[in-house]
Amino acid sequence: MKIFCIGRNYVNHAKELNNPVPESPVIFMKPSTALLINNRPLYYPEFTSDLHYEAEIVIKICKNGRHVQPGFAHTYYDQWTLGLDFTARDVQIQLKSKGLPWEKAKAWDHSAAIGTFQPIAHVANIQALNFSLRKNGQIVQAGNTADMIFSIDQLIVQISKYFKLQTGDLVFTGTPAGVGPVQIGDVLEGFVQEQKVLSCEIK
Ligand code: ZN
Repeated sequence: MKIFCIGRNYVNHAKELNNPVPESPVIFMKPSTALLINNRPLYYPEFTSDLHYEAEIVIKICKNGRHVQPGFAHTYYDQWTLGLDFTARDVQIQLKSKGLPWEKAKAWDHSAAIGTFQPIAHVANIQALNFSLRKNGQIVQAGNTADMIFSIDQLIVQISKYFKLQTGDLVFTGTPAGVGPVQIGDVLEGFVQEQKVLSCEIK
């Protein structure tokens, strides 16, 4: 399976990192070894001193496809959850400044935490989901999928122009404003529509 991630999919987050709002989605990938599941803790990596959380709605691909047409995009995913796109921000800033790829900042082991998956069929509108991230009980990020620059269907169309979608692939759909650092001992909890779907302690 593959993990697709979308950068800068909320205007307010693009602005907080002083990035331009993109005209087409920023797509990057993490390997399957990046997954962190079952609410396991994340061990603070030794190669960074500025580890950031990015809370994102994650969708799961349910059938194979290339060059998906817009009218069919919604049939390619059937589950969602909340995930954390953990980022070594200091490493990313260095790589970006040199025009280098982001893998060492974004695609390392356990950098892609995912919560419990929920059926899409159980929500009225996947593009109107409220979600939030709490750090040690305090809300640090809050977003709504209505504020995505590129809708999930548009992301499916764009990703599948370049990469074959396969059952089980995941798409991290981008983070809203409020990204920030974590320290050892912090506990992150992800909520969607008031339901807790993710928890992760930094160790
Ligand atoms: Zn992200």
